[in-house]
Amino acid sequence: MMAPADQRIDGSSFLATDRPMPKDADYKRLGFPVNYSLLAKVNEWLADAQEWLFPPLCVLCGDYGEQRRDLCCGCADDLPIVKAACVRCGAPLPMPGTCGRCQRRPPVFDRTAAVFHYVPPLDALIKRLKFNGDLTLARLLGELMADRLGESETELPEVIIPVPLHVRRLKERGFNQALELARPVAERLGVPLAWRQVVRIRATDPQADLPAKLRYRNIKGAFAVEPGFAAQHVAIVDDVMTTGYTVNELAATLRRAGVATVSVWVCARAALGR
Ligand SMILES: [Zn+2]
Ligand SMILES: [Zn+2]
Repeated sequence: MMAPADQRIDGSSFLATDRPMPKDADYKRLGFPVNYSLLAKVNEWLADAQEWLFPPLCVLCGDYGEQRRDLCCGCADDLPIVKAACVRCGAPLPMPGTCGRCQRRPPVFDRTAAVFHYVPPLDALIKRLKFNGDLTLARLLGELMADRLGESETELPEVIIPVPLHVRRLKERGFNQALELARPVAERLGVPLAWRQVVRIRATDPQADLPAKLRYRNIKGAFAVEPGFAAQHVAIVDDVMTTGYTVNELAATLRRAGVATVSVWVCARAALGR
């Protein structure tokens, strides 16, 4: 598949929304003064005009969106939010705690925040993002993730690491869905995004195509951390988590690179045994 027009092949983006607002100092360096508050106001007017000319439409029902998002209030209220889960692996539980599986064999990562259940309509939205290259969905879902994580995460990481794709898969798809979800999360929470420092060195079969038993072997040794990477606390971002083997393997690689605390942030958590 060709890379979408707003996407470079390395996964970086031309999207205007990803560009930070210029600061006064940037202009002073250019040698002429700029009224920063006027610039911000003009930006706001342009956003209003854009909203009036091209109102956001709900990705689920086609009604007008709310809060400049492609989602209406009714559909937002119906999204399958994870209310109670295992603090360690994010598996849905009747009440927050640690699931039996994590008590018997704790994963390498320290905690998981899963925002949605991987059930309709989330499964369809994530498939549309991944397989139809609908990147507006990445922004919407990433912003919804940021809303929830901003409330639930008391201790923010130093850096966010989206689960990397192998370069071959990246060329096929044209983008990394984990990176596209992580962009608005990083932007909104003010945490830097590190997506060049961790790479997928082994092309693996898609985990979803394999039975749970084989997924563990499939992902072993798939990742590498660039020399010089240093952080105490990182958050791994991914679209869907099922067995957790992928993020566990990435967490193990990060631990070997000296990371002390690994959080996992996923958009949707699938129930095991799917
Ligand atoms: Zn709707
Ligand atoms: Zn658990």
